[in-house]
Amino acid sequence: MENLTIKSFHEGLVAKDFSAREIAEAYLAKIKEQNPSLNAYLSTAEPQALETADAADAAVSEALAKGAPETIPAMTGVPLAIKDNILIKGLPATAASKILERYTASYDAGVTQKLKAARAVFLGKTNMDEFAMGSSTESSAFGITRNPHDADRVPGGSSGGSAAAVAADIAVAAIGSDTGGSIRQPAGLCGVVGFKPTYGAVSRSGLMAMASSLDQIGPLTKTVEDAALLYKAIVGADPLDATSTNEGAIAARTLETLPPLDEVKKLTIGLPKEYFVDGLSKEVSDQVGKAIEKLKKLGFAFKEISLPHTKYALSCYYIVMPAEVSSNLARFDGIRYARIPEVAAAVEKGASLMDVYMKQRGLGFGAEAKRRILLGTFVLSSGYYDAYYEKAQRVRTLITNDFTEAFKEVDVVLTPVTPTPAFKIGEKTADPLSMYLEDIFTIPVNLAGLPGISIPTESYPVGGGRLPVGFQIIGRKWHEADILNIGRWYERN
Ligand code: GLN
Repeated sequence: MENLTIKSFHEGLVAKDFSAREIAEAYLAKIKEQNPSLNAYLSTAEPQALETADAADAAVSEALAKGAPETIPAMTGVPLAIKDNILIKGLPATAASKILERYTASYDAGVTQKLKAARAVFLGKTNMDEFAMGSSTESSAFGITRNPHDADRVPGGSSGGSAAAVAADIAVAAIGSDTGGSIRQPAGLCGVVGFKPTYGAVSRSGLMAMASSLDQIGPLTKTVEDAALLYKAIVGADPLDATSTNEGAIAARTLETLPPLDEVKKLTIGLPKEYFVDGLSKEVSDQVGKAIEKLKKLGFAFKEISLPHTKYALSCYYIVMPAEVSSNLARFDGIRYARIPEVAAAVEKGASLMDVYMKQRGLGFGAEAKRRILLGTFVLSSGYYDAYYEKAQRVRTLITNDFTEAFKEVDVVLTPVTPTPAFKIGEKTADPLSMYLEDIFTIPVNLAGLPGISIPTESYPVGGGRLPVGFQIIGRKWHEADILNIGRWYERN
């Protein structure tokens, strides 16, 4: 029962090799043992998890009694880890911020509803950078998460807890969110698969908004096959998210069967020359080179392309994103949502409204959240709006157009995920700009709203003594099948 995937779990469950309850108990026990050192989970949900596992077992028995195993959803009973900025009614949802330390979710996120309907088991909520701002999980208000491959290194971020949980096998799979790389980058550093769907494919309802025009929820899994299964379970329009559509769900129907390699290898892969430059470490360039060779051996054709505005992507993102952050985080004012203990005490003593605002936000937000609120408020302020925000929006269009042009020549684009493998804890915390550079290869994908997947270049077992390196495949809008199918063939060989 080591390293169960969604697929192998489902097969075992349907064959009655084990029950959902047995597996849930085994994972909860493993979490108790390993989480004190890893800190991948901020909270666990044992009673709810066991109750759902029992319900899953009952549903499985019922379907089997009817002779209809095919009616059992792929996610039934699957033990999942959920990033702490995604709401599950009745459970804590802190987004790793002190400001929400005492907050309990009052409703289910869109993805939560879908996974509950399939009777997936939620083991607990995972650690992250505060409000998903960061690339190392070091900005969490509740302690760092360690990389299971090397305890002195970061797991990446912001979905570092989700990536570490999957890599350490204290969850079968996990859910994260990605605004500029937060699923793909930690997946790359932890040696697991991380998939960010097309903007609008998955509901953002109940995902605490960081930058609404960039945020997207997606899977972190042990295999690409699992990423496709989990994606199919969460894709689809939601009346509570006006930017969600059904295009992704319709396209996802083709994921049911993997087309033969002869079919899939007709897809041409583009290599953007702007992504294979000096700043790339030797490990990453060697490993990504090997991945390209492997795909060539499988029969894929490659073509060099150019995405000329790549050099502006980071600057553009660090204007658009903080602008949205500053308005999204305005809601945490000490009136709505939970009060931090200091504010609750001040209110008892008759604090003024201004006191409440100042204390709640002053003591509740961490340094990175404050930095971005300040930046965002500045670029939106009258007099600077045209010079910064509006200009950044124009650049965003240029970056999107680069991809549109590239997709006239090739079907998908292959790039590294990060410039280096996992870095040491503390290495970049004193220098925010070097931390921001971590997402140089993932950010353009969010700016353009495209689907992107991070796949380990090879299999990296925990304890194997090697730091994982991933590669990224970017697809056309709503063409998640292209990148998932290439990935599925890659991992089979
Ligand atoms: N690391 C990037 C940032 O700090 C991306 C974060 C994310 O995708 N949520 O903004």
